[in-house]
Amino acid sequence: MKIYNTLTKKKEEFIPLEEGKVKMYVCGPTVYNYIHIGNARPIIIFDTVRRYFEYKGYDVNFVSNFTDVDDKIIKKAIDEGKTAAEISERYIREFNKDVEGLNVEPATRNPKATEEIDGMVEMIAALIEKGHAYEKNGTVYFRTRSFPDYGKLSKKNIDDLEAGIRIAVNEDKEDPMDFVLWKPKKEGEPFWESPWSEGRPGWHIECSVMSKKYLGEEIDIHAGGEDLIFPHHENEIAQSEACNGKEFARYWMHNGFLNIDNKKMSKSTGNFFTVRDISQSYDLQVLRFFMLSAHYRSPINFNRDLMEASKNALDRIQTAAANLEHLIDTAGKIECEMVSGLSTGGSQALSKEEEELLKESAKLQEKFEAAMEDDFNTADAVSAIFELVKLSNTYGTKESSPAFLKELLDRITLLCGVLGIKALKKEELLDEEIEQLIKERQEARKQKDFKRSDEIRNLLLEKGILLEDTREGVRWKRA
Ligand code: AMP
Ligand code: ZN
Repeated sequence: MKIYNTLTKKKEEFIPLEEGKVKMYVCGPTVYNYIHIGNARPIIIFDTVRRYFEYKGYDVNFVSNFTDVDDKIIKKAIDEGKTAAEISERYIREFNKDVEGLNVEPATRNPKATEEIDGMVEMIAALIEKGHAYEKNGTVYFRTRSFPDYGKLSKKNIDDLEAGIRIAVNEDKEDPMDFVLWKPKKEGEPFWESPWSEGRPGWHIECSVMSKKYLGEEIDIHAGGEDLIFPHHENEIAQSEACNGKEFARYWMHNGFLNIDNKKMSKSTGNFFTVRDISQSYDLQVLRFFMLSAHYRSPINFNRDLMEASKNALDRIQTAAANLEHLIDTAGKIECEMVSGLSTGGSQALSKEEEELLKESAKLQEKFEAAMEDDFNTADAVSAIFELVKLSNTYGTKESSPAFLKELLDRITLLCGVLGIKALKKEELLDEEIEQLIKERQEARKQKDFKRSDEIRNLLLEKGILLEDTREGVRWKRA
């Protein structure tokens, strides 16, 4: 399996640190708002990477953090008259709903920064002890020049970087390139005790600490969006390697950016969608399918036409799967009738032609694998699935044997499943059942049983039913 490694700028054969295991860390969101569709890209991509490893039989330890202390969270808390913890908890809940809709496997662990402060204080103290960090007026800085490999990931030269810094803003820093590990609190901010000041950690240290705690000093893959290469990942490497004296991560994977209508996504120009916005008009499976239609390292352009195209493409797969399922059901019934002597025709055994066609379909599975093994080329992997769909549509008929139909259906659902795509839609709910569940949800909300009301909302979402709370009451529609 080949992975493009940002560290070496080459596609490299994947060799795990420990046979059969993958230790993977993906930098997670800062939880101060609903995630936007740009944030969804790394979530979907690295979930697909994980799923492919699992398909290959690897045991994947997948850790992704929540940054739940940060200026933006604090600002939102002040604006809304809430605590920072209330804000972050709310958006972690909302995040979980979105990723469920996107069919993302739950991480092995989702550590939260605020629950790992002790570990951060410990690592900062170790860095000071080793001469890689220093304290000035309650702030602790990383001594960037003490780490000779600084810049190895982003291919930046520390002297060039320094030349680019025009003003020495901070008198306390020994060197303009030094970055903050710990900072004293400001009035009204959440804070923790430390040997240096009552304060809070800088952003970069949390990932070094959580990755070490949950995966060990050396891991296989560290991933995130390409904007994280510098300074976030560069600083993580400096902290971890200076502290542990070991290579932090073997493979660094970064996804390209998502643009909207060929422009950078930006809230101020209205060029911005949350995953929740999209879920009002589409099943989130469509968004997932859309993300997989391009190579993860290339930029991807989002617009309504492309989403419609993804919806139609996904529909083609799901229709083929539903047809196969229907044919299998009918064939099953014919067989029962045959057993009871009521019918003739339809055979259990594979015909010669079917055997040949199944060999062809197995080759398409190999084609799918070859695409995925070439640095997770999901676009080509999806093409292989479409070839399989075409084969099924052409040769899966009432006359086919159930074994043939079943093998085709299993192969389509298996390969779609590797991409996190559900080939078989869940059974549809009847209108009355939906109304009944909505009533139950209203009742639960009245009783302040938000757990139940969320459960119902998610259940409906899973069945493709979107709810909208309006002043006139709850409206619903099918995705
Ligand atoms: P943030 O919450 O801004 O730290 O972002 C969380 C993740 O989303 C990081 O891995 C970012 O690199 C990624 N990300 C943010 N914006 C985009 C975008 N427009 N396209 C792709 N990835 C993005
Ligand atoms: Zn990180």
